[in-house]
Amino acid sequence: MTARTAAGWVESGGYDAGRVCLGLADEPLDRPEALVRFLRVSGVVPAGTRLRGLDRRWLGPFRELRDCVAELVAAHLEGRPARPAALELLNALAAASAPPAPRAVRTRSGLLVRTLSGEPDCRALLATVARDAVDLLTDPAARALLRRCEGPGCRRCYLDTSRGGRRRWCSSEACGNRARVARHRAAHPRPGRRQPETRPPDLRQNETRLDTRHDTRLDTRHDTRLDTRQNEIRQSEIRQD
Ligand SMILES: [Zn+2]
Repeated sequence: MTARTAAGWVESGGYDAGRVCLGLADEPLDRPEALVRFLRVSGVVPAGTRLRGLDRRWLGPFRELRDCVAELVAAHLEGRPARPAALELLNALAAASAPPAPRAVRTRSGLLVRTLSGEPDCRALLATVARDAVDLLTDPAARALLRRCEGPGCRRCYLDTSRGGRRRWCSSEACGNRARVARHRAAHPRPGRRQPETRPPDLRQNETRLDTRHDTRLDTRHDTRLDTRQNEIRQSEIRQD
């Protein structure tokens, strides 16, 4: 299943993985609140769904599913067979329960909204995410869009549904922006940057402000727009010189 509220997910510090199971692979799941947030923001449960039974006991099984999905996706991307135990676990979780049944209910304004037929338990929600992973890993078209972020040290995976298949980063604001700033700095080395201790404090402050302005200007979603901006920055630097 696709993440229903990718924008909200991104705003809350995540990224648009394109699929629920890929989003789970990025979750720390260190406390029950993190799992509640994932389930709600990814759309596994509709907003307003009561999860009164969710406590620390749910974290272990969801971490197991997360690690199992991560292993299977990594194996696909690296062109190697996954550990058999990972596939067995995924299939067991997908078969252990039916996902919660959805219901359409009418609100006071007359619109229909999605709810669940009852309060879901842990096994049903594990099955929802596990079945999403089964669907993804067995669908040749979806599988062909699987990518890992090119950011140094970044392990996030996503479905590249961009036009032309040119997406390279988990998030333009995170890894994409870091790469653009690094590229810009490599192309425009500043003679004083390597000896910060030799400059007077007020000069360092000025330079920090300038760097911040550059970083902000480089914070853009589109490489093409970036190239234009980089040219503008270069030209303004030339004029300053
Ligand atoms: Zn990344």
